[in-house]
Amino acid sequence: MIFSYSAINMCPHYGSYPLCNKLRATSQKTSLVQGNLIVCFGFTLTKMEGGSSNGPKYECLLFDMDDTLYPLSLGINMACRKNIEEYMLHHMQIEESEVPRLCLELYREYGTTMAGLKVMGYEFDNDEFHAYVHGRLPYELLKPDPVLRNLLHSMPQQKIIFTNADEAHVAQVLSRMGLEDCFHGVICFETLNPPPSEPVKIKDGTVEVKDPPEMNNGTSSRKTQILCKPSVEAMEAAIRIANVDPKKTIFFDDSVRNIASGKAAGLHTVVVGRSTLVPGADHALNSIHNIKEALPEIWEDEVEHLEQVIQSSAVETVVLA
Ligand SMILES: [Mg+2]
Repeated sequence: MIFSYSAINMCPHYGSYPLCNKLRATSQKTSLVQGNLIVCFGFTLTKMEGGSSNGPKYECLLFDMDDTLYPLSLGINMACRKNIEEYMLHHMQIEESEVPRLCLELYREYGTTMAGLKVMGYEFDNDEFHAYVHGRLPYELLKPDPVLRNLLHSMPQQKIIFTNADEAHVAQVLSRMGLEDCFHGVICFETLNPPPSEPVKIKDGTVEVKDPPEMNNGTSSRKTQILCKPSVEAMEAAIRIANVDPKKTIFFDDSVRNIASGKAAGLHTVVVGRSTLVPGADHALNSIHNIKEALPEIWEDEVEHLEQVIQSSAVETVVLA
């Protein structure tokens, strides 16, 4: 079943955008698999079905991107914060001595500094903001990661990026890391925050993002204007857009508060970049590279399926003999 998602029309690069092309190519390939098809931001997601009568234990893996697929120590995060502070200083004329404190406070209060600035009444173009803070990042620090690429390709579940960042940043990071064909879809800033004139149709209902529900911190999202992690509403929106069962979905994120809200939304959770559990986390991974050792169950459905196929073949062989 294909259901429309009007954000597809918003992607200015659809048809020419390298990331979209690759993801669309993936979707064309996987659309042959039995299941539900989801059109999501310029490409098609395929909901895999099969396995036992109860289905596989996990159907979907939802990955944060920044500081999750690559380590915090790389310095991208610090460079991004520096760019945000410069934007606040030069484009909003905020007092220089106030910028670092305000930047951090808004991030803590509203999920992202950008969301907080909107609440404060600052008016700026979202694309211009993203181009300034992400477009000037030292992307050359990101290197191809063939180990992670092989791990992702070996996972039998549907894999989706879920990030607060914009689509251009997602494309840069995945391309630099050589992971652009590893995911069935991307849920990013533009997915959750389309222009007000573009309602987002999700399955058989319509989500009017220009008038979204209350945020979990009690603040009206109509006031904040931006829907983003760690609000539980953003988590639930991602779950609806991906059309996944949260009980069969594992959510990976480096943020402690994102993990807490992911758990509140019913997801299995893995905090990445830490060796110890945090509130709401089911697992902790020092590095995403450790995923196979820490979560072998991700591959167990595939092993069970292969065992069933082997057993079935064996029975056929006996009968034929
Ligand atoms: Mg992150």
